[in-house]
Amino acid sequence: MTAALPSSPPAAGAAKRQFLHDAAEHVRDVGHREFVRRALGGYYTSRDTQKARYRDWEQARDAASMAKWSAVNRLDELLPRFEAAFTANGGQVHWARDAEEARRIVLELLATAKAKAVIKSKCMTSEEIHLNQALEADGYGVVESDLGEFIQQLRGEPPYHFVFPCMHVRRDEISDLFGQHLGTPPTDSPEELTMIARRHMRRLYVDADVGITGANFLVAETGQISITENEGNARLTAALPRMHIAIAGIEKVVERLDDLAVLLPMLATAGAGQPMTCYNTLYAGPRREGEADGPEEMHLVLLDNSRTALLADAEQRDALHCIRCGACLNVCPIFKNVGGFTYGTTYQGPIGSVITPHLRGLKEWNHLSGASSLCGACTDACPVRIDIHHHLLHNRRNAARSSPDRLERIGQKLFAAVARRPWLFATGGWLFRKTLGLAKAIRPPVLSAWLATRDLPPAPAQSFRAAWKRRQR
Ligand code: SF4
Repeated sequence: MTAALPSSPPAAGAAKRQFLHDAAEHVRDVGHREFVRRALGGYYTSRDTQKARYRDWEQARDAASMAKWSAVNRLDELLPRFEAAFTANGGQVHWARDAEEARRIVLELLATAKAKAVIKSKCMTSEEIHLNQALEADGYGVVESDLGEFIQQLRGEPPYHFVFPCMHVRRDEISDLFGQHLGTPPTDSPEELTMIARRHMRRLYVDADVGITGANFLVAETGQISITENEGNARLTAALPRMHIAIAGIEKVVERLDDLAVLLPMLATAGAGQPMTCYNTLYAGPRREGEADGPEEMHLVLLDNSRTALLADAEQRDALHCIRCGACLNVCPIFKNVGGFTYGTTYQGPIGSVITPHLRGLKEWNHLSGASSLCGACTDACPVRIDIHHHLLHNRRNAARSSPDRLERIGQKLFAAVARRPWLFATGGWLFRKTLGLAKAIRPPVLSAWLATRDLPPAPAQSFRAAWKRRQR
C-alpha cells in the first residue's frame, strides 16, 4: 500500500530529471492547477479574517520567531532539560542519529510490546524516516487515523501537502475509494464521508497495541509533548493503545509552556486560517495510578537526521524554526503550478526546497532551490519569519561553489568578456536582433526546451542604448 523502502541512493541526477518531468506534466494539467487554486481559495479568506483579529500580527510574528530563535540557539541546554522532565514524568527518550536508527528503535519497541497492530496519527517525521514501509516490511498492520492520511494510505500515495495531505483529491474520488476498500455506498456528503472513516477507525483504536504520533512542540520546562489537531484522532491514538510512541525532530523543543500561547494560535492561523486548532493536548507521560485512561508506556524518539548539521550553519540555522504550518506552500506560485508530488520529498514547497538539500544532500537536491520565482511570498507568509527565499539563494550559491557547472562557468566568462567591451556588446546585440527571427523559424536545439512552452517575442527594432540616446535628444 505504501512505496517501497529506499534501499540505495538514487542514480545521480535522477531526482532532478524526475522533478523536471513531473513539473512539465503538472504545469500542462490545467484541471489540476484549477483544482488546487480553488482548494486554496477558502484558505486565503479565512487566514486573512483570522489575521485581522490579532491586535498586531507583525508583532505576534516577532514573538513567535523569538520563541523559536531562543530555543533553537539553546538546543544543547533545552534538550537535556526536556529529557530530564519527560523522564521524571514517566516517559522514555530515545535519541536517533538518522532515519535508520529511528526505524530500528521503533521496531525494537514494537517487539518489546509484542505488538501486532499499530495505529498512527499524522506524523511527518515518520514520513521522513519511511516508517510505514519499515513496519509493513516487518509484518505489522499499520493504519493512518488522520482522515487525509488515511485517504492517502488507501490511494497508496504519500501526502501531497504536509498539512493538507489529500487536498488534490476530489470528493467523488474519495467516495469511490471508500466504496472500493470499505464497501460503502457512494455519497457526495463530506459529513458522511467523515463518518464512514470514523466508523471504520473506532474498532482499530481499541485493537491497536501501539499508537504512534508526531509532536508539534516539546516543552522543556514541563517535559510535555504538545500535539495540535482537528479530528481528535491523535488523542485516541495516544490514549487507547498500551504503548504510545511519539517521533519528533530535535528542533521541536521550546523552553516554556508560555511559548505555546503564541505558537499554537500562529500555527493554526497561518496554516489553516483557524483561530485555534480544535484539539490542543499536552501529554505528560504514561497513565498514572488512579487515572482512567492513557498508555502503560510512553516513548519519544528524538530525531537528528542532519538537523545538527543545519544547526551548525549559522546562515541558514533559522530554517529549524519551522513549525510546519504549511503557509509558505499555500502562497507559493511554484507549488500551485507543479503540485506537491513533483517535489519528490517529505517536505514540499519553499521550506522543503530549503531543508531537503540539507537533509538529503545538496548535490542531488539543489534543483529544488532553483525552482523558485524568488518572489518572497513564502517569507512574507511565514509566521516565524524564516528568510525562506534568501535561503534558496544560499543553497544555489553553495551548490555552485561545491560543484560548479563547467558549461555555466564558460558561459559566464564569455559574457563577462563581451560585457566589458562596449563595442563587442553592441555588435552582439545587433547580431542577436538580426538573427532572432531566424532562430524562431529553425528552432535550434539549444532553445527547444524554452520554446516548447513559450512564444519568442519579436526582436526590438533598436538597442536600449540607441533608444535612450534618441530619448535624450
Ligand atoms: S517555513 Fe514558515 S511558513 Fe513554511 S511551513 Fe515553516 S513555519 Fe510555516
